[in-house]
Amino acid sequence: MRLSAFLVLFFPLALAFPRLGLHEGYTRLVFDLDARAQYQIAQTADTLTLRFTGVAPSPSDTEVGSPQVASYQVVPTPQGAQVFVRLRPGVEVRTTLLDDGPRRRLVVDVLTVNRPASQAPSRTNTRPAPPPRIVVLDPGHGGVDPGAVGFVVEKEVTLDLALRVRRILEREGIQVVLTRERDVHLSPNKATDLGLRAEMANSRRNLFVSIHVNSAPNPAQGIEVYYFGNTLDPALLAQVIRENGGGELGRRLTREAQQVSERLMSDLIAQSNLKFSRQLAHYVQASLLQATGAVDRGVRQAPFYVLRNARIPAILVEVGFANHPVEGRRLQTSAYRQALAEGLARGILRFLGNGG
Ligand SMILES: [Zn+2]
Repeated sequence: MRLSAFLVLFFPLALAFPRLGLHEGYTRLVFDLDARAQYQIAQTADTLTLRFTGVAPSPSDTEVGSPQVASYQVVPTPQGAQVFVRLRPGVEVRTTLLDDGPRRRLVVDVLTVNRPASQAPSRTNTRPAPPPRIVVLDPGHGGVDPGAVGFVVEKEVTLDLALRVRRILEREGIQVVLTRERDVHLSPNKATDLGLRAEMANSRRNLFVSIHVNSAPNPAQGIEVYYFGNTLDPALLAQVIRENGGGELGRRLTREAQQVSERLMSDLIAQSNLKFSRQLAHYVQASLLQATGAVDRGVRQAPFYVLRNARIPAILVEVGFANHPVEGRRLQTSAYRQALAEGLARGILRFLGNGG
């Protein structure tokens, strides 16, 4: 079962059609075509349709989420494929065919155009309501797996924080999905448990936040926010192995996540998603520090198994150290947990465009 899920997630990306690039002010879609391939382009107010013959891409439906392009869909046809690019309002499309011998590239740039306000079409009334924004919160550990234990137990703090963040976000009209709402594990097998959590970071949701509490042999203190990537720092890898299940299992899942990280280097869609994850991480880190006055341990990349397949901006937050004599006791209090929850929620809202 895990293998088939893996193929569904990664096979279409290996043959990326189109290749996607996100840039300041424009989104670029590049279609690699051989000599036989032909295409036609048609555009309406909100959709760019490309009809190809002589290509054979896999079907896909990809959320882009850039300021210019909402998503694109690739639909194979008997002769080739149709690609539907959902455009945001206020954009302009420019296409270029680059011809270098047998290999040709069709480059489609979707640019933001800044019209004077008086000339801007008044579309605000006719535009359909935006789809609900959905945030996935993952309270780390649970059930048989307590996580870090010190002045507090990690699985209790993470659940309490997630419930507090949910209350704040729901007041702002955001839908919240929790990976668990009680003291339960999703599977007694840690790899399956983390896999089930990760599967909730699918493209029908807007972002994914996994919440954790840290611990260290020599108690440090402070807040760290992670997005997916590799690291060579042995101390950090030890922490990642612990969060990935610990022991031999944790080492195996960490190796698997590192291999995914290497594959993602050549995957433009994943790379653009990582840019959004990094931005979300910075917003959340800044607002957490502002809300709590905690020590800043930075935004970092690490191969957390629960983040490895995310198709939406995804971060893992370490809100503090369970075994630090000051921070661990602070994590016991309702007031400090509420400050953390408000910091977390504010960072999420800022990323979603709801807050300053
Ligand atoms: Zn944890």
